[in-house]
Amino acid sequence: MKVLVVNCGSSSVKYQLLNMEDESVMARGLAERIGIEGSRLKHQASEREEVIIEKPMPDHKTALKLITDVLTDEKTGVIKDMDEIYAIGHRVVHGGEKFSGSVKITDEVIDTLRECADLAPLHNPPNIMGIEACQQLMPGKPMAGTFDTAFHHTIPDYAYIYPIPYEYYKKYGVRKYGFHGTSHKYVAERAAEIVGKPLESLKIITCHLGNGASITAVDGGKSVETSMGFTPLEGLAMGTRCGSIDPAIIAFLMEKENKTIEEVNNILNKRSGVLGISGVSSDFRDLEQAAEKGDYGAKLAIEVFAYKVKKFIGSYSAVMNGVDVVVFTAGLGENSISMRERICSGLDYLGLELDPEANNVRGKEAIISKPGCKVKAVVIPTNEELMIARETVKIVG
Ligand code: ADP
Repeated sequence: MKVLVVNCGSSSVKYQLLNMEDESVMARGLAERIGIEGSRLKHQASEREEVIIEKPMPDHKTALKLITDVLTDEKTGVIKDMDEIYAIGHRVVHGGEKFSGSVKITDEVIDTLRECADLAPLHNPPNIMGIEACQQLMPGKPMAGTFDTAFHHTIPDYAYIYPIPYEYYKKYGVRKYGFHGTSHKYVAERAAEIVGKPLESLKIITCHLGNGASITAVDGGKSVETSMGFTPLEGLAMGTRCGSIDPAIIAFLMEKENKTIEEVNNILNKRSGVLGISGVSSDFRDLEQAAEKGDYGAKLAIEVFAYKVKKFIGSYSAVMNGVDVVVFTAGLGENSISMRERICSGLDYLGLELDPEANNVRGKEAIISKPGCKVKAVVIPTNEELMIARETVKIVG
């Protein structure tokens, strides 16, 4: 049973073809610069060299057609024709309050997604375009949608409501939704398997630390609090996003710098975070290098980031009345030995101490806390595509 997982961004389509008999990846790739000059498709079939195809891709439909072509091509492909694919799983960023789990895609679901587009204007429209393009290219193929927000559906009202007039929640749905849900769910489930205890019995804090970063408190397998909010701008400092700041700063900057709301929005989303503090880069590899050479901005940015993660770990252990496991995942969480060290230093009061030797690990599953620690720290590479494929089989099957 083969499942194609599709993740459409505004100018890109990421995909993976999985064989669900053994959950192996048959092929993966990325079509980028869709709609702009220099479109190209990077395609990697399992155990074969990567191929790069440079071809104009004016829209998502052209990109998806090219993807189906490379998947079925004699040289680059891994299947004979698209009939071999059992179903398609789409990543959808925002499910609003409507979707508390993955759904089978129907016309009604697409209409509801359009209604949610207001809440995620950058993300949902390309997701919908991808779904419609697949419908046109492969009519009748069963499809499912898995939402970034769905896992956070269990967050209680007192945690998701903002202290602003309640009418804005009723009128516009202004509340915390949370994101990266597929990743938080995947690593929480894996963490329970790794520590050998039932998920229902564990209090887990999952730290998804990539370019976008968020932390979730998972109590008994359910998300009860998460750091991203109404949009993915809230919470931690990120690569280029500011995370939580005093909202009064927005009006202050608009006035002082004579900027429009769009311009300030752009600054907070694209020019802030560790890039904004350091002026060096949004990428932690660059920051770590610059910090080693003594760059003050880079050092400060790293410190700010680690400090905020630590604050969330502390507050989420309070939210759950304790914590059993802290998970690190995504680009930075999986790979940065020094960042994990920085975050976990001074958490011995909680019962968490890293084992320096065990922490010397990148990109693979490992328990990195000292043996016998009350709180276990674990590195788990995230696998959102596998999670989406599993959900798709469940929904469509
Ligand atoms: P996203 O999917 O949100 O774009 P990723 O999960 O791919 O982000 O994470 C990307 C980030 O991970 C990079 O910006 C970089 O800061 C960090 N990263 C990746 N590898 C390393 C590494 N070896 N050391 C430190 N940071 C790393």
